[in-house]
Amino acid sequence: MATVSLQGVRKDFGSHTVIADLDLEICDGEFVALVGPSGCGKSTLLRMIAGLEELTSGAILIGDEDVSEKLPKDRDIAMVFQSYALYPHMSVRDNMSFALKLRNQAPGQIDEAVNRAAEILGLTEYLERRPKDLSGGQRQRVAMGRAIVRSPKVFLFDEPLSNLDAKLRITMRAEVIKLHQALKTTSVYVTHDQVEAMTMADRIVVMRAGQIEQSGRPLDLYDYPNSVFVAQFIGTPT
Ligand code: ADP
Ligand code: MG
Repeated sequence: MATVSLQGVRKDFGSHTVIADLDLEICDGEFVALVGPSGCGKSTLLRMIAGLEELTSGAILIGDEDVSEKLPKDRDIAMVFQSYALYPHMSVRDNMSFALKLRNQAPGQIDEAVNRAAEILGLTEYLERRPKDLSGGQRQRVAMGRAIVRSPKVFLFDEPLSNLDAKLRITMRAEVIKLHQALKTTSVYVTHDQVEAMTMADRIVVMRAGQIEQSGRPLDLYDYPNSVFVAQFIGTPT
């Protein structure tokens, strides 16, 4: 069953078409890596799925429901960005509970959700700290914690690890996969790192100039790229 269904999705900024009538079905529980050169529309596409950017035309479905007109907070989706975008004046606990308070959840439920997320992410002992007193990896975990407290059906990641050093990036890749599996979510993960795409994803979607160039299992794309473009993108791991 498709959890996320993009149907003829188009985005124009003025006369510039950034996403061109794109169709994509993402299955329940799938981990999809979205790759492609800078400026090809990856972030714009994620932002449209999250409801942060309006569609010029087309529709986005989550499950059976057309969410194209829905506000971000009414979509069963959470997004993790590359810049952590944590609230510096709030503790880790408050950063993580903020979205739940916005949705008027009961305090008991909020505590339970935050404690569970902290446990999954190894943040239990850091809950009362401020972001500035955390390492880069811990901050990125808090950013993920903020996303998972709502137990979203769909997780969107926009190059979440690209600010981290190489060693931490490897650790965090495993963390992201662990989260995806533990929460049984459906994940769309934008990366420009071929190794991440090859090792983390069930399926890689290669984008080029606002369209899908090829989509398939990592090894299939590696062995059978259908264009030089895909071969260059997937076939030469760095
Ligand atoms: P990617 O994430 O693949 O690098 P983006 O989705 O950020 O690409 O951008 C795709 C294209 O859309 C780029 O040409 C960018 O300049 C343009 N773009 C993105 N956001 C806006 C905006 N708010 N207004 C005008 N153009 C935009
Ligand atoms: Mg981007």
